[in-house]
Amino acid sequence: MDSLSQIPGVGPKIIEKLKRLNINYSKDLLYHFPNRYIDFSHSVKINSILENENVTITGQILDFKNIFTKTGKNIQKAIITDNTGKIDLIWFNQPYLSKNIKTGDILSFAGTVSLFQNKKTIIAPEYGPHNTGKIIAVYPETNGLTSKWFRKIIQTQISNLLNPVTETLPTDLIKKFKLLDLKTALLQIHCPTDSQLLSQARTRLATEEILSLQIKSYLSKKDWLKQNPKTKIKITKPIDKKIKDLIKSLSFKLTDSQNKVITEIFSDLTNPNQVMNRLLQGDVGSGKTIVALLSCYLTHLNNSLSVLIAPTEILAHQHYQNFQDILKDKNIPIFLMTGSKKIDLKKIPKNAIIISTHAIIYKKDNLKNKISLLIIDEQHKFGVKQRSFLNSSTKLPHCLTMTATPIPRTISLTLLGNLDISIIDTLPQNRLQIKTFLVPDTKKINCYKWIETEIKKTGCQAFIVCPFIDISESMASVKSAIKEFEFLSKNIFPNLKLGLIHGKIKSETRQKIIKQFQDNKINILITTPIIEVGVDIPNSSIIIIQSADRFGLAQLHQLRGRVGRGHQQSFCYLFTESQNSKAINRLEFLEKNHNGLKIAEYDLKNRGPGEAFSTIQHGFPSLKIASFSDAKLISFSQEILKEIIKNYPEFNFSQIISENIISESINN
Ligand code: ADP
Ligand code: MG
Repeated sequence: MDSLSQIPGVGPKIIEKLKRLNINYSKDLLYHFPNRYIDFSHSVKINSILENENVTITGQILDFKNIFTKTGKNIQKAIITDNTGKIDLIWFNQPYLSKNIKTGDILSFAGTVSLFQNKKTIIAPEYGPHNTGKIIAVYPETNGLTSKWFRKIIQTQISNLLNPVTETLPTDLIKKFKLLDLKTALLQIHCPTDSQLLSQARTRLATEEILSLQIKSYLSKKDWLKQNPKTKIKITKPIDKKIKDLIKSLSFKLTDSQNKVITEIFSDLTNPNQVMNRLLQGDVGSGKTIVALLSCYLTHLNNSLSVLIAPTEILAHQHYQNFQDILKDKNIPIFLMTGSKKIDLKKIPKNAIIISTHAIIYKKDNLKNKISLLIIDEQHKFGVKQRSFLNSSTKLPHCLTMTATPIPRTISLTLLGNLDISIIDTLPQNRLQIKTFLVPDTKKINCYKWIETEIKKTGCQAFIVCPFIDISESMASVKSAIKEFEFLSKNIFPNLKLGLIHGKIKSETRQKIIKQFQDNKINILITTPIIEVGVDIPNSSIIIIQSADRFGLAQLHQLRGRVGRGHQQSFCYLFTESQNSKAINRLEFLEKNHNGLKIAEYDLKNRGPGEAFSTIQHGFPSLKIASFSDAKLISFSQEILKEIIKNYPEFNFSQIISENIISESINN
């Protein structure tokens, strides 16, 4: 690959800076895309512009002044006119502008219109010669490298940079899908000649970016499918009867959705030629646990081992309890393993069910090639735990990952194409919608009072979730919960019994507190967001989430799902001190919406994947040009992939993956 040092004007210092942007070879410069453009080819009339609008105007400079204010600031002010009106242009601390902008000049300016000293003004507009009809690329400015620097270096070097670029897609495929060829696309993205070509260039490059992720998933699935399952699981007549009997013995009737996903999973498990790799997606409270239990039961009846991994100790305990209750009198070896409760994995019977936290990962060698079914509940980081297990096995177990965070179709089509997906899309009947209210600071006390009355009247229970400070529950989160507990016990609820849990409380104590809460000996449980996942206490019908604006919507939806599990009406109060209209809008969306998928899609659009999936996906690949919420683009590149698989058996996939310089995918 060509080294950066061959480019004129690029010395060791600049190379250092570029390296920090992950630009290591001259080719990488081509993939450092502009983040926006100024379109000097379309000016609007000055009298037609509106506040907050992003505009380009062209006119004559009436006046240019360099002003020093009394407070020592330095302002540049120009007045520009066209035949419809006048407007002020303001810059701060850019005295050198006087060299380029002179009274009488005819120039174009681009920027956002705002009100400055009550007059429509464009602050710090970009400027360029008029009538060039040019669209100018603006690059993200980082590490002391300006947009101008990038523009200059890339524009002057563009033909050298493009020289070694080779097309990644077959010619007839490019034709069929009406794509630009790669060289033209790269040229247009940096040096656009008109807006239509620019838009085609974006499509081509964005398609390729998504395609490369889809290819990764596809290859990973292909690899997976080469494996044979360790155990042949069968549903013989007696086994079938046992499973039906168990289902009959439940205190509830399975929903149609639950039955559907159970059929899908059982059909995977009994397929003698393929190993299951399935994601079970179902909104909070949709009843995924029983699906997991039945899968483990089937595995047990086939004299094979299953492992269910829960993300927290609280949840592992809860599952263990639940499994024992439902599977009682059947003489099934069920084990619990957590950081504080070790078991000797070497002595585990072949047909056991192990419920564990991630602690089991450190002992995985003892289970080498023994597991037939691996279930990961409330997966926080797709693939990671699973991968660490699988790397240690030569025979892959069937894998089922369960998540309550609904995954927008666009995401599953890009990143999770290697997984089969089962969806529980209805909640059990008789669930009332959780009434959700946004509570501004001034109404907090009223809300507390109402809760106290309600608890005394109906005997219901409440959660109060302290602000989210960081994902790995640091001391800061713990401290804020302790402080809140003390404050509320003393000042707000002296007449009620309050409990406190957080991750730094010893596991046994924590279990005791949860048990007390389950037995209604505690009225209000104060907690850090650790209760987010899975905790199932049907008598609690009120949840307060403090500083709700700090959470992602998907996470708030999860937290809200801690209530509304029984038959009584439940309530969720979102406290916020924020005045930020965007934050308020987000919370208002949650007030009105109860469909997890819709909520996740909203956050994906408004805050991007990192925010929307803050709880489940660190290390989301960061896209350079495509967007995870662009459904059209994503199904378009899906079509292309299908075409490649169908008609281009010789296609070299690695080419696309390496051509695109995207950060590492989370997929395995
Ligand atoms: P999640 O999908 O969030 O893990 P759980 O499996 O914890 O949900 O189920 C939530 C609650 O709903 C549990 O108390 C469970 O016993 C109950 N439940 C599960 N399936 C049904 C059903 N078909 N009808 C009624 N209640 C159900
Ligand atoms: Mg669950």
